[in-house]
Amino acid sequence: MITLTGKKISEGIAIGKLSFYKRDIKEIKKIYVKDVEKEIQRFQRAIEKAVSELKLLYDMSIREVGEANAAIFEMQQGILEDKEYIDGMINMILEDKLNAEYIVQQAVERFVDGSFLQKKGYNKAHEADFRDVGLRLIRILSRSWKDKMFMDEPFIMAARELYPSDTVQLDKTKVLGFVTMYGTINSHTAVLARTKGIPSVIALGEPLKEQYEGKTIIVDGYEGKVYIEPDYTTLTRMKQRRDASQSHTKNLERLKGKENVTQSGQKIEIFANVGTREDIENVLRSDAGGIGLFRSEFLYMETGNRLPTEEQLFQVYRLAAESMGTNRVVIRIADLGGDKMARCIDLGAQANPAIGLRGLRVMFEKEDVFMDQLRAILRVSVFGNVSILLPMITSLDEVARARGMLERAKRALKEEKIPFDENILLGVMIETPAAVMISGELAREVDFFSIGTNDLSQLTLGTDRGNSKVEKYYNPHHPALLKMIRIVTNNVHLEGKHISVCGDLAADLTMTEFFIQIGIDELSVAPNQVLALRKKIRDIQ
Ligand code: PEP
Ligand code: MG
Repeated sequence: MITLTGKKISEGIAIGKLSFYKRDIKEIKKIYVKDVEKEIQRFQRAIEKAVSELKLLYDMSIREVGEANAAIFEMQQGILEDKEYIDGMINMILEDKLNAEYIVQQAVERFVDGSFLQKKGYNKAHEADFRDVGLRLIRILSRSWKDKMFMDEPFIMAARELYPSDTVQLDKTKVLGFVTMYGTINSHTAVLARTKGIPSVIALGEPLKEQYEGKTIIVDGYEGKVYIEPDYTTLTRMKQRRDASQSHTKNLERLKGKENVTQSGQKIEIFANVGTREDIENVLRSDAGGIGLFRSEFLYMETGNRLPTEEQLFQVYRLAAESMGTNRVVIRIADLGGDKMARCIDLGAQANPAIGLRGLRVMFEKEDVFMDQLRAILRVSVFGNVSILLPMITSLDEVARARGMLERAKRALKEEKIPFDENILLGVMIETPAAVMISGELAREVDFFSIGTNDLSQLTLGTDRGNSKVEKYYNPHHPALLKMIRIVTNNVHLEGKHISVCGDLAADLTMTEFFIQIGIDELSVAPNQVLALRKKIRDIQ
């Protein structure tokens, strides 16, 4: 048995077979071929196979994850049907007399690097699709790699590092847990793992070796440990731990329907954070009072190179609104940028993306994208109790500009005779020190507030939440932050407005008493954290 220690990012125990997720093309041997015609036939057969795989994936995805997610496979099929691209590779085989795997690898790099993408109307973000398709061809040609995400058996996924765009597509029924070599506990990948309730341990480093592929492993998301080929005693112990945690979860179920009230009668609301259609179901199971944060940006990571349409956004928002009935659903305008890059929106390279083109700034650059969301949310406002939340606010001007856009969206819908709630509430995230300092003024302008402690910590402490080298400086309990939370809460309450905390600190049970003491109205946490938080509140004197 090998024991590895990393960082825990999402609690729970997972036991299963390890499978490595490969994003990059690995080194392929260069082999001279004598029979070039035969090699070209082998290459063409691989293309046919890849196209039929993509067709299958498209059909499967339409059924399982919806049209928006399936679109990526249709687009990738288009790449394989691009005559210029494919003929280019055939010519390379003919001229260089080299094996098809090697040519595909070279061709992907050559085409992705050159002006080819631009000429064909692809943007920089399509690079990933070209690489993906190349990988598929190489896998087929070398007949060795499996398509991990579509294996039959549930498995534990391993990767060097996972990005939010990978994590958002994890199928919880297939991925029992995940482990990575690198990554940080405050990244959005970690946020997503918690939202999805997938036991995960990250930053295991180089000791997490690819040679463990197929071996039985245990992910202990409570302790941040991973056991490879566990011995009988460890396996039994961890199974017991898993059963105990399942029975603890069952016990918490008894708190469903109960109030979030301390022994002395102080009340606080508990809402849930979501990012995808699938998370909405978890909210219903969690008994949360509503959705406190719908991270719309994740909807942009599911559609590959295509932007989600207003209609697609409307459908997901509507599902959230209708599922929650009269309970509040706070939909955040997409906070794209930072570590939340979507292939469908090219923001270009930025040295400091977390403080670059991000959040509302992206929306102001891409007004159509902003408009689609505003219209979708307004249209949903007649199906439930939805409100709009603006991310990464730093000034009153930004609020005024966003409100102007909202009014424009309302006027357009009126002209089109599409019903919406004229009095829809508009709120802002408090995620920047600037927003803290002007919270009094903001409280006169908007209807409600939500403190994003993740970004507020990163920006106040000058500590990149995604940089493991400075992780020890990322301290959301820092007195400066607690003081800020207190100041904002007072300013907001002076204007009689509602304030919640929706960053990860909301689920930190050592902070619950503090939040209640200073009068926070609502805590919004991952769905599977709702009942544990309720228990904590009910235990407070
Ligand atoms: C936050 O910053 O605390 C927050 C809730 O937003 P996100 O984690 O999505 O950046
Ligand atoms: Mg944030």
